[in-house]
Amino acid sequence: MAKPAIMTVDDDAEVLGAVERDLRRRYAEHYRVMRSGSGTTALDALRGLKKRNDPVGLLLVDQRMPEMTGVEFLGQSMEIYPDAKRVLLTAYADTDAAIHAINDAKIHHYLLKPWDPPEEHLYPVLDDLLEEWQASFRPSFEGVRILGHRWSPDSYAIRDFLARNQVPYRWFDLETADKDAEVRRLASAVEPDPSRLPVVLFPDGSSLAAPGTTQLAERLGLRVRADLPFYDLMIVGGGPAGLAAAVYGASEGLKTVMIEREAPGGQAGMSSRIENYLGFPSGLSGGDLARRAVAQAKRFGVEILSPQEAQSVRVEGPSRMVKLGDGSELGCKVLLLATGVSYRKLDVPGAERLQGRGVYYGSAMTEAMSCQGEDVYIIGGANSAGQAAMYFSKYARRVIMLIRGGSLSTSMSQYLIDQIKQTPNIQVETRARVAELHGDGHLEAMSIHCGESGQIEKVPTNSLFVFIGAEPNTDWLVRTVERDARGFILTGNDLMRDGKPPSGWLLDRDPYLLETSVPGIFAVGDVRHGSVKRVASGVGEGSVAVQFIHQYLSAV
Ligand SMILES: Cc1cc2nc3c(=O)[nH]c(=O)nc-3n(C[C@H](O)[C@H](O)[C@H](O)COP(=O)(O)OP(=O)(O)OC[C@H]3O[C@@H](n4cnc5c(N)ncnc54)[C@H](O)[C@@H]3O)c2cc1C
Repeated sequence: MAKPAIMTVDDDAEVLGAVERDLRRRYAEHYRVMRSGSGTTALDALRGLKKRNDPVGLLLVDQRMPEMTGVEFLGQSMEIYPDAKRVLLTAYADTDAAIHAINDAKIHHYLLKPWDPPEEHLYPVLDDLLEEWQASFRPSFEGVRILGHRWSPDSYAIRDFLARNQVPYRWFDLETADKDAEVRRLASAVEPDPSRLPVVLFPDGSSLAAPGTTQLAERLGLRVRADLPFYDLMIVGGGPAGLAAAVYGASEGLKTVMIEREAPGGQAGMSSRIENYLGFPSGLSGGDLARRAVAQAKRFGVEILSPQEAQSVRVEGPSRMVKLGDGSELGCKVLLLATGVSYRKLDVPGAERLQGRGVYYGSAMTEAMSCQGEDVYIIGGANSAGQAAMYFSKYARRVIMLIRGGSLSTSMSQYLIDQIKQTPNIQVETRARVAELHGDGHLEAMSIHCGESGQIEKVPTNSLFVFIGAEPNTDWLVRTVERDARGFILTGNDLMRDGKPPSGWLLDRDPYLLETSVPGIFAVGDVRHGSVKRVASGVGEGSVAVQFIHQYLSAV
């Protein structure tokens, strides 16, 4: 953490130099002594410190300055650093003004010029004030800060991106500026351009206005470009299945690269608590699982490029070439597809317009704090929806689950059903579906169709989390590998028709288990036709696939 600052301000260069010298002599070891020749430049300097989140312990300011008096400066400084100790330096003639300023500008002390010897007239006063300041000083948060609007999809995308990439951040919601002085202070220091929000502030004082996730990733030092042009194994998708394949592949000597378009962890990374994964009797969060798996993969030398999207594949003899979102192309001997599934979009009026403005797909755990004391709606009756309900119930006033069926028992694990029953602020509405979403700028209400009564009820809410059905992330593979009618990738035996491999298959062997209709391209996890949609099965498939990859490589 940066040393707290002591700032002295005076337009008289000689006096300023003398004060600075005396301050440095006593305080330089523990404080950063700063000087300024006018109130305006000093206020700018304070705003700069605020942007970096650096602490300020004390301001020592001359009263008589031409463009802004010391009292005026100290008054304005309170909007930026209200907790800094404020000391006025005055001539004997200004004593009355100084005494008034104790009340008006809430200064903590005034000192008379000259202050020689400082051991007698300066240090005892400042020591006392700094001791008092230290006693109540709480070191500030040193990570990334985001200043933006709660209802902005861009703000949400950045918070979600940082959370899923395990980058600690603090969120400053401009909507709360009237209630939260810290938000007001940061906003006045940053003076953001309203058309370029959110602003992301870094610990070194630099900032990015309305950055894209790639720009942000580069600024944070995340890896988005590969070291090599060609790998033994390229894995597309960094969920549990892809990560397991990466760990096994790299640990068995394959030069491995992984391409992930959002953040390693996949859907599992969005889970607040996975309770059925072997070896974790009290469960673990998806974020924890992702962090551990990424560390393990990196330890074996896997290169993880994220965020980076795979956009198309072409086969060139024994090489599989993948075009990436930044326009570059990477080659490999074996390609493993582990792109999982995404939630189906809600197809009702208002849903598209309000996405990221109160309507979220998946559990959007970053929103939990903002939902405090509110009513939150969840659509869906599977485990993912149940976990989200449990998670939000700790923050929201009420969580209302809307399910199409008559009960949760057909779609949700019993342990979650039991937990939901025992949580008084979760309410399950059966045979209910959303008919329309309303809101100007953000979600304000929704119309719910009740199947039992046939009535439509309009309820107020600011937050809706959608967990309906899943679609495989395979649009980019349409002309590459065979898929089923819903877009899931066919592998192994599922490709065989009347005991014969698919047309275009030129090898004199059948496709291996987990191999697609193109030799040397494998698919694992949720994206695969017939897969069991669970973390453990994805991990299992990812691990097993490496065995067949070795067999394939031994023959090319
Ligand atoms: C909220 C929630 C809670 C869950 N809880 C549990 C639980 O408690 N227990 C359990 O067993 N299962 C649970 N599941 C299911 C489990 O998470 C999934 O079955 C598992 O994550 C599937 O792993 P996967 O690797 O196949 O795919 P995914 O986890 O879907 O990962 C696929 C990855 O591929 C990336 N990707 C997609 N397309 C591209 C592309 N073109 N280029 C680059 N990257 C791409 C995606 O960004 C994603 O990160 C839960 C799911 C959710 C959503």
